[in-house]
Amino acid sequence: MSHIIVVGAGQAGSSMVVKLRNLGFEGKITLVGEEPVPPYQRPPLSKKYLLGEMALERLYLRPEQFYSDHNIELKLGNPVTAIDADAKTITVGGETLTYDQLAITTGSTPRQLPAAIGGTLEGVHVVRTLADVDAMANDVKDGAKALIVGGGYIGLEAAAVARKMGVAVTVIEMANRILQRVAAPETSDYFRELHAQNDVTILEKTGLTRLTGEGRVSGAELSDGTMLAVDFAIVGVGVTPNHSLAEMAGATLDNGIAVNEFGQTSDPTIWSAGDCASFPYQGNRIRLESVQNAIDQAEQIAANMLGEPTAYVPKPWFWSDQYDTKLQIAGLNTGYDQTVVRKGDKEGSQSVWYFKGDQLLAVDAMNDPRPYMIGKRMIEAGKSPTPAQVGDPATDLKALM
Ligand SMILES: Cc1cc2nc3c(=O)[nH]c(=O)nc-3n(C[C@H](O)[C@H](O)[C@H](O)COP(=O)(O)OP(=O)(O)OC[C@H]3O[C@@H](n4cnc5c(N)ncnc54)[C@H](O)[C@@H]3O)c2cc1C
Repeated sequence: MSHIIVVGAGQAGSSMVVKLRNLGFEGKITLVGEEPVPPYQRPPLSKKYLLGEMALERLYLRPEQFYSDHNIELKLGNPVTAIDADAKTITVGGETLTYDQLAITTGSTPRQLPAAIGGTLEGVHVVRTLADVDAMANDVKDGAKALIVGGGYIGLEAAAVARKMGVAVTVIEMANRILQRVAAPETSDYFRELHAQNDVTILEKTGLTRLTGEGRVSGAELSDGTMLAVDFAIVGVGVTPNHSLAEMAGATLDNGIAVNEFGQTSDPTIWSAGDCASFPYQGNRIRLESVQNAIDQAEQIAANMLGEPTAYVPKPWFWSDQYDTKLQIAGLNTGYDQTVVRKGDKEGSQSVWYFKGDQLLAVDAMNDPRPYMIGKRMIEAGKSPTPAQVGDPATDLKALM
């Protein structure tokens, strides 16, 4: 009987094993995860779960029972420590398992601050796992003073939650503006203003020299010499893909685990999906860190393992919740040369449209679901309004579809 092993019991790994069964695969499936809990959703970790508004059970993608009901063996609580690609074996918790096909869906790891600048002091947190968030729960309390290092989505979401819980929050961002890596200046401006309205201090073009404290963090020295009193810090400065197992298997690496359009690594019996995998896209190689990508890519690979392979074509979308603002993003803005802002009907609703020449690439919609839906449908259909049409408030966007 054929045995498919999936290493990494997160969003992609869980989607893949479920899809394999849904497609009628009757062989053996083993899903191995180093965390001690069944696969769960990460987005609420920096949103409702951190706020205490979402119970643990609701984080789980499926109840644990689901896996045994579908004859999927879940092996939790130990990392896979070795792969022998010639023998087609993996090692986990002292046990050796043999596979026919293997998928690596090991996700990514948040970058940490070096110990030399206080990165290992108590009270310095990252937000990736349930354990990370549980570890910060006691710190995020009314009256505490927090430093958030990094003004990306994770840092800003954590800032919003901490603020809602009565924490005094300072966000520092080394780049010229928050969200610089992922969004246009207009979107950065929107969120800067939103956080200012909620009394969060955002310091751009400001780095961290060091965190200070005896055992536990109690202060921070910023790059402009400012000293801050700090009760806890959250570090949100990006992630690195978990590629070490693929490296051990001799697979090609390139900004993560390099896969072809079908999701195969340079070893055709080893596949990879999710945060850890880079894949070909419009002449480039990209890696996406989003739920949609993890699910769709994993499901495509499940189908490809079982039948005639089909290329994975991402339909990128992403979201972020900060205070009462829901940001929805359709498409990928890489390479844009022009943006157009459209005000929505309601106070605070707005969309930012990204173009390369006359071609629509992406839309950021803040509390404005309609432009998001329309932009997404147009991007997926390969259609494009012109920048002038989008910029004209009289244009009925729906009519352009
Ligand atoms: C706080 C937070 C908020 C987010 N918000 C959003 C959002 O709003 N929208 C959005 O689209 N995306 C969001 N994301 C990103 C999204 O959650 C990830 O892109 C997605 O989880 C990637 O899925 P994955 O399966 O590749 O990785 P993961 O879900 O991280 O799963 C990988 C699993 O592999 C395990 N693993 C690693 N190495 C080994 C090993 N050697 N052996 C066994 N197991 C191993 C890990 O422990 C982990 O459980 C957020 C992420 C975080 C952390």
